[in-house]
Amino acid sequence: MPLILHKYGGSSVADSGRIKNVARRIAKAKDAGNQIVVVVSAMGNTTDDLVRLAYEISEFPDDRELDVLLSTGEVVSSTLLAMSLGSLGHKAVSLNGAQAGIRTDSSYSRARILNVDTERISCELEKGNIVIVAGFQGVTQEMDTTTLGRGGSDTTAVAIAAALKAGECQIYTDVEGVYTADPRLVPNAVKLEKISYEEMLELASYGFRVIHPRAVELGELYDVPILVASSFSERSGTVIVKEASMEVRNKVRGIAHDTNVAKITVIGIPDHPGIAMNIFEPLTRANISVDTIVQNASIEGITDLTFTVARSELVKAMSIVEPVAKSIGARECSASSSLATVSIVGTGMENTPGYAARMFRALYEVNINIQLITTSEIRITCIINEDKVGDAVRALHKMFDLDVT
Ligand code: ASP
Ligand code: MG
Repeated sequence: MPLILHKYGGSSVADSGRIKNVARRIAKAKDAGNQIVVVVSAMGNTTDDLVRLAYEISEFPDDRELDVLLSTGEVVSSTLLAMSLGSLGHKAVSLNGAQAGIRTDSSYSRARILNVDTERISCELEKGNIVIVAGFQGVTQEMDTTTLGRGGSDTTAVAIAAALKAGECQIYTDVEGVYTADPRLVPNAVKLEKISYEEMLELASYGFRVIHPRAVELGELYDVPILVASSFSERSGTVIVKEASMEVRNKVRGIAHDTNVAKITVIGIPDHPGIAMNIFEPLTRANISVDTIVQNASIEGITDLTFTVARSELVKAMSIVEPVAKSIGARECSASSSLATVSIVGTGMENTPGYAARMFRALYEVNINIQLITTSEIRITCIINEDKVGDAVRALHKMFDLDVT
């Protein structure tokens, strides 16, 4: 019997009506003759509410307790879904992360999965059960509960699909798949039938929120095809696979944007070995990830260093960088938070010149100033003012012929 994995995001199980809708979809897949494992997120904004509650109680909630607290959101949705399947006449059992064999390291709030012991899941499947697993959580060797980082249920789903060698990991969410750009900004954005792991990874890391980048990475590593589709419609979605078809290899596949971006500039630094280390080591220790880094060529032994962080981490990052800047003799430190990134992504640009120039022309034509630029093999990202992000995405969508795929 084929084994399929379904994953439902928070909006798909936001209330009892939606949980019943999801149960009907699962029942249908089961009736079609499949074995089904389901991974669920917490209902709606439950995780945010739990985080808020913890910080109402304590300014610095204990990290072990916080993980146990947050893991309960998924436990609630998994049990309700199992009950709902029961009332449709199906045998279903809910399992929390520990019961499902999700073993992790002990880095609370950002645990990594070490392995998935599938014995219990397999045993429940053999008994004819639909198995509902609480996403986003695992257990350490000491049997302490951990969580995988926000948005971690996608990672749970792909990890279980890989461990069970499921034919496909189907991720159901509130959009119909992966579009060439955010349809709220570009009304004529087109849904892609297929996209490669590497393209999806770049798009997900630079603003496409349909799937977590870690899940895409795992999918690629274990060769698990991932379907992204809507739980609210029967339409077909987008499949993430090794290689999208030949004809599309020469194209830009998507325009991503992200407004959770801020920039810090340290000005007038005496340039000698160790300055970058002095600035970035304390940021790493505080678990703040830095994206783009640009150091100017130094003039008369003085240089400037600019880098970006998530806007949500700007205050924390500044509180670390300001004293360091002083201690290394920098003149001043400035921050700007109303920024955004726009990125073009496509394997087609590998080894092909001209994409960057076309991107810069498109932005010039709508009078947008580029502040910083970064690239990977298959991505070019420009950092611009946030208020221009809509114009930028639309101009790029048009320039790279995505309006009419
Ligand atoms: N409920 C968790 C969160 O909101 C995990 C997830 O939804 O994937 O981050
Ligand atoms: Mg979520």
